[in-house]
Amino acid sequence: MFRIILFLLLVIPIKTLAQNKTCDSVLFCKTNLIKHIKSLSSDAFEGRRTGSQGAEKTQKYIINQFHALGVLPLLKGYKQNFDFIEKREYYKGVNILGYLKGTVFPKDYIVISAHYDHEGIKQGEIFNGADDNASGVSALFSIAEYLKKYPPKHSIIFAAFDAEELGLEGSKYFVKSSTVDSKHIVLNLNMDMISRSEKNELYVVGASDNKVLKEVLQGHKCSSKIKLKLGHDGYDGLDNWIYSSDHASFHKKGMPFLYFGVEDHKDYHEPTDTFENIQPDFYVDAVKTILSVFKKVDDIKL
Ligand SMILES: [Zn+2]
Repeated sequence: MFRIILFLLLVIPIKTLAQNKTCDSVLFCKTNLIKHIKSLSSDAFEGRRTGSQGAEKTQKYIINQFHALGVLPLLKGYKQNFDFIEKREYYKGVNILGYLKGTVFPKDYIVISAHYDHEGIKQGEIFNGADDNASGVSALFSIAEYLKKYPPKHSIIFAAFDAEELGLEGSKYFVKSSTVDSKHIVLNLNMDMISRSEKNELYVVGASDNKVLKEVLQGHKCSSKIKLKLGHDGYDGLDNWIYSSDHASFHKKGMPFLYFGVEDHKDYHEPTDTFENIQPDFYVDAVKTILSVFKKVDDIKL
């Protein structure tokens, strides 16, 4: 009897510790990173098409996470409403914007962004958009979690943009709305499709024409197994991704950007872009890599 009790006493604390350890890593909780991409790309969110019930549900989910993580609302209720016409159809979009104040350069903003919208339901099929771009949104949460623990030097705007798939409309509106004066935005760090790569490669775009960012990236050593590759920016013969996602809206207004993403894959914009087809280990490493680049740029007066 005594032995059994002793056994229980020993086992219970160890198990509790082990569970906490997963969620008490130095950087961020990996379990949560995976949990949120899984939720956001589940059928319950109906492919998150702009203006749909699924999009509304996604907005609530993001707001709840921002709130729980201690990210402050940049605007009332975290919401930035806008409307636009695309192919003669009228849409209402909603960006979700959170905020953390910088400790050293509080007037200078780094906008960390990921679009949350996707393709919705077409001919009865749900386009879940796990990699595109539930992966970027869940990464926003992990980065926020990290920055609550280790406050950033620059002020940070966490931007979950709407209507990227309909022509970068959410980010276009954000940069023209002057919610924050563009001269105070020193960098956009955009994430769009970061959860899978057969070659274990993550691309970073936007450093080639920026001396400071180029120096940071060229000297950057990844601690993870990921190969971080500079390119896809018009100089290497590969597809030019400078205008491929929301970072383009910042770039067009002359603001520096870094875009992180993977090569297109067979499930890109297909109903098979599902949680089952992401690579969790690659994804965790990708977010760690992005965070390590962020830390370096945040250290510099940009
Ligand atoms: Zn995308």
